[in-house]
Amino acid sequence: MSDSETHLPLPKHDWPVMEPGWVWLCGAGPGDPGLLTLHALNALRQADVVVYDALVEDTILDWAPQAEHMYAGKRGGKPSVKQRDISLRLVDLAKEGKRVLRLKGGDPFVFGRGGEEAQTLIQHGVNVRIIPGISAGIGGLAYAGVPVTHRDVNQAVTFVTGHDQSGETPASLNWDALAKGAQVLVIYMGMKHADRIANALMAGGKPADEPVAVVSQATTPDQKVLETTLGKMAADIEASGMEPPAIVCVGRAVLMRQVLDWQALARGETPRNLDPLGRGKPAEQA
Ligand code: SAH
Repeated sequence: MSDSETHLPLPKHDWPVMEPGWVWLCGAGPGDPGLLTLHALNALRQADVVVYDALVEDTILDWAPQAEHMYAGKRGGKPSVKQRDISLRLVDLAKEGKRVLRLKGGDPFVFGRGGEEAQTLIQHGVNVRIIPGISAGIGGLAYAGVPVTHRDVNQAVTFVTGHDQSGETPASLNWDALAKGAQVLVIYMGMKHADRIANALMAGGKPADEPVAVVSQATTPDQKVLETTLGKMAADIEASGMEPPAIVCVGRAVLMRQVLDWQALARGETPRNLDPLGRGKPAEQA
């Protein structure tokens, strides 16, 4: 391969050098390789080994042709690797003097166990750099045309996981309080327990007609979006045949997709509703 093929151009900047024995814990974004950060690209160019998750697209690995690629995911039909084994493997690789790039889907510190991996590395005396990434709950929704905050809708956004360590709906969460206090909920890993989550939120007072969007494989060519309501969400997910990974967004911000579905507009469709929140005046008028 020529230099221009292996060396993706980076703009002029004082880019950090990956030293042997360091682990860079890096977010790869939700899927679309264009959503990597420049720090991630800089790391891909320097790594000796890339330890990657199930949610990292293959194209991204192609950008580190010089490196060994090691799978350390927990799904995708491949045998799953225990968290402890992954963390200790990172320690071993670092101690061998490798430049290690630990590449995780989305952002490493958002429901990604990045904190645990970094803690293990630091407890073993390994030097660590953290490179944030675009989390699926923000970037994935943006690709679906859903703004996680919108001034007329919410002044807060709540990120929730639909699984806890036991694989169950998190018992530690006060679903009643979430139903009453969270204006927009962004639920990661919410597919398996969609029915329980919807019921818990409705039992806490969220209306059955609360808008919901489910976005699977967000930002990839296989992205699918389902618009539904809290009351129908579980049945509609089932009927749609949608599979994880998917983000579930509960709240009126979802309505904005009727005007902001930019991918549909790019295909030549017309906006379904220019004023989905019924403001009655142009958006530029505060
Ligand atoms: N650290 C990741 C989240 C890891 S947890 C991040 O910041 O995005 C795994 C969950 O993330 C999945 O179950 C799903 O809810 C969500 N997710 C990750 N990538 C996704 C994608 N491309 N489309 C939809 N959901 C995604």
